[in-house]
Amino acid sequence: MAVVWLDDVRADDLDLVGGKGASLGELTGAGLPVPPGFVVTASTYRAFIEDAGIDDELFAAVEVDHEDSEALQAAHETAHDLIMETPMPDDVREEILDAYRSVGEGDAFVAVRSSATAEDLPDASFAGQQETFLNITEEDLLDRVKECWASLFSERAIYYRNRKGFPHDKVDIAVVVQQMVDAEKSGVMFTRHPSTGKKEIIIEAAWGLGEAVVSGTVSPDNYVVSRETGEVETATIADKKTMCVRDEESGETVMRDVPSDRRHERVLTDDEVSRLLELGELVEDHYETPQDVEWAVYEGEVYMLQSRPITTIAEADDGEEDEGDSGRSRAAATGDDVLIRGLGASPGIASGRARIVTKLDHLDQVAEGDIIVTEMTMPDMVPAMKRAAGIVTDEGGMTSHAAIVSRELGVPAVVGTGDGTKTLEDGEVVTIDGDKGTVREGEEPEEKQRQPVEEARPKTPVKPMTATEVKVNVSIPEAAERAAATGADGVGLLRIEHMVLTLGKTPERFIEQNGERAYVDEIVSGVREAAEEFYPRPVRVRTLDAPTDEFRQLEGGENEPREHNPMLGYRGIRRGLDNPSVFRLELQAFRRLFDMGYDNLEVMFPLVNDAEDVLRAKEHMREAGIDPEKREWGVMIETPAAALCIEELADAGIDFASFGTNDLTQYTLAVDRNNEHVADIYDELHPAVLKLIGDTIETCREVGVKTSICGQAGSKPKMVQFLVDKGVSSISANIDAVRDVQHEVKRVEQRLLLDSVR
Ligand code: PEP
Ligand code: MG
Repeated sequence: MAVVWLDDVRADDLDLVGGKGASLGELTGAGLPVPPGFVVTASTYRAFIEDAGIDDELFAAVEVDHEDSEALQAAHETAHDLIMETPMPDDVREEILDAYRSVGEGDAFVAVRSSATAEDLPDASFAGQQETFLNITEEDLLDRVKECWASLFSERAIYYRNRKGFPHDKVDIAVVVQQMVDAEKSGVMFTRHPSTGKKEIIIEAAWGLGEAVVSGTVSPDNYVVSRETGEVETATIADKKTMCVRDEESGETVMRDVPSDRRHERVLTDDEVSRLLELGELVEDHYETPQDVEWAVYEGEVYMLQSRPITTIAEADDGEEDEGDSGRSRAAATGDDVLIRGLGASPGIASGRARIVTKLDHLDQVAEGDIIVTEMTMPDMVPAMKRAAGIVTDEGGMTSHAAIVSRELGVPAVVGTGDGTKTLEDGEVVTIDGDKGTVREGEEPEEKQRQPVEEARPKTPVKPMTATEVKVNVSIPEAAERAAATGADGVGLLRIEHMVLTLGKTPERFIEQNGERAYVDEIVSGVREAAEEFYPRPVRVRTLDAPTDEFRQLEGGENEPREHNPMLGYRGIRRGLDNPSVFRLELQAFRRLFDMGYDNLEVMFPLVNDAEDVLRAKEHMREAGIDPEKREWGVMIETPAAALCIEELADAGIDFASFGTNDLTQYTLAVDRNNEHVADIYDELHPAVLKLIGDTIETCREVGVKTSICGQAGSKPKMVQFLVDKGVSSISANIDAVRDVQHEVKRVEQRLLLDSVR
């Protein structure tokens, strides 16, 4: 038997029908209304490759060095072609087509989804690797089933299994073929409050197909329903500008404007709410755990499309969070034994032997648990920074290399001390407090030293659910895993400067010596680490933006222009557009990643001033083979010019605008962000900065462009309050701040909701 009907499938049929098939079968068996369908079993796939005798060739083809992107691409192509060119046996073809003709009226539009049998691998990222095709009819069905089989050998999937050491021949793939529900309305439902666990049902609903709600592209209505009384406690009706529908002619899923009379109309009737409540109770009882359900309404019937356990409930009261600016507990550093003060740049308290590092070749003297004391950190120092218990620098502010990297590594840091390298003595034992920005004499008792915040927190609770997305910034690929573990909704800024500067040579010199391909490969491999770790959560990767003084320290740096003020100089998009030889390779690297299946990448351009910059960058993107109409892309708002020209930037086609407040503040206030002498007047919350941000958000909301922040200020509660009040779409914070920002966002959103009903 090549196929089994969902009616006959149960949860423990995982090996036969894969994770997705088993879960749909289980729901169907529990009597819940699931659109009808069948599964082409995993053994059908296995028999196909074995009977045709292509199995050995297939598995041998994908045993490649996964870091070699050319080899990976070739492996994928060989495997894909082998599967697509091998004919499906006649009996299997007939069985699949016969089953299809029994779905609906016999000519139904169906969804064809891969359902791999090893989806229970520890890493959720595996689940999203294979293909899904919507709105398929008989004509394309068999090809799509084979495409699903072949998607077991996408570049991403091969890379993933090789990297994890998971044997290729241990994963099989089933294919779910299920009637499409041409939803009039759809959404998600939580059978408990997703962050408090309270016994109420939360429903989000919008017009049209569910993709728009699930992917967050429309703001849905929100209903809170008491499970005790069945009463709708609150119904917040959103302004629903767009909806996702199936195009009558092409059968494709497209976005349409919601007719004006339905934009403000409530989506769910009381009867539908009651039915959802009933189904919510049933599904929770069935699984004996709170569920997160995708549902749709079609011709008056409510269907369940998917259900999975809610992983975000029951934040145990860890008793650690006190009020106060950062919301963190502090082991007080009291007394007047402070040797030196600076800015607390990365939280935590640590004691260790001070190691004064003035030259890079002194780095091997940094032992495990030492405190590095240096003028300013550089990318080459990262291995030593990983060994260190703490970092102290003379120079730099909250957005300097030392501050950014320490936070990502979870190492406490105090920056901008002025003369730490002169005041502290090599070998003396000190204690640094990365919250207060102090360095004290002597050792702190072990129990008072403190781990980075997120490590000290209980592991079980995940995140509070917020309408505003909370993402995380990543600058060093090694930090991607820690960043992903925060439960952030994606990466709001993936910097590539670190990947490039650690080459030890300017990009031009590196390319001269190693060739263009090698440069592309370096970017591909760094970006892929984050894209893989977060998949399918979105990752916004930015083209290079390093000032010339940072390049100057590298081999080839002598060819960099000498600038009086590199911060105002040859950097970001202006350099990329002036001399595209390196810039276009970065875009080619992103294109490679798209081709490899990392469709969660989004492209972002730094330091644009006006529409001309954006249009030229967009043209380069096109030339690199990235279709700006199909991919999400946008710009940083880092100059007052960009903020003031936002309408023109929107007209140029951007999908999002992300506030780079590190630069926006320095350019608005004329305060060098890295100059510790003016650090006290560097203020991201200055009314002028806030006005630029507030006005930009307002315009973006009018024209349908998403807004975000990825500067350091996104980790500050006051900025979070301001942004959520203004209606920002997402906030990207430092790793250590993600949890606090999630809570802060939630608090502000709840206040806004309450204000609107009072
Ligand atoms: C910013 O300017 O706020 C930003 C995020 O970019 P960078 O710190 O890399 O200049
Ligand atoms: Mg910037």
